[in-house]
Amino acid sequence: MGEWMDKARTRLREENYRLTRQREILCRVFIDNPGRHLTAEEIREYTIGTDHPLGLATVYRTLSILEDVGLIGRIDMGDGVARYEFTGGDFRPHYHLTCLECGSVTEVEWPGIKEVGDVPGIDGFEVTDHSLLFFGICSHCRNRTEDERNSNSREGGDSYAKR
Ligand SMILES: [Zn+2]
Ligand SMILES: [Zn+2]
Repeated sequence: MGEWMDKARTRLREENYRLTRQREILCRVFIDNPGRHLTAEEIREYTIGTDHPLGLATVYRTLSILEDVGLIGRIDMGDGVARYEFTGGDFRPHYHLTCLECGSVTEVEWPGIKEVGDVPGIDGFEVTDHSLLFFGICSHCRNRTEDERNSNSREGGDSYAKR
């Protein structure tokens, strides 16, 4: 995935930004966590384990620049906490299924719409952004509730604690 970092460097350069240490660290967090949708706090915690821990203000400032140049996408899951995902790699447009029990996020492709603006039946309206969220109970949590129903014992701890 070294080529993703090269892509990030190229993209930043196109917008007259340099790949600074902070920007590189943030890209690295996403590249090391493919498919994750991370909050700024989670990103900050992740950097604590590296040689270059970042403060929350730096994380936000860096995220905002990476978002501006299109390397990172911000997702609003409707719970007031912004999550971010890396869009600088082999990114394909997708939608998110959020589990109301455990907060896990599953990605799903929507066959009808390949990119923003590709909305059938509209004329003269330039779509620049869109939002479509799915909420429900993930298979993990559904199995868990069934297990609970099937057993009379409730001693087992909750290993899927709410986030
Ligand atoms: Zn779940
Ligand atoms: Zn996603």
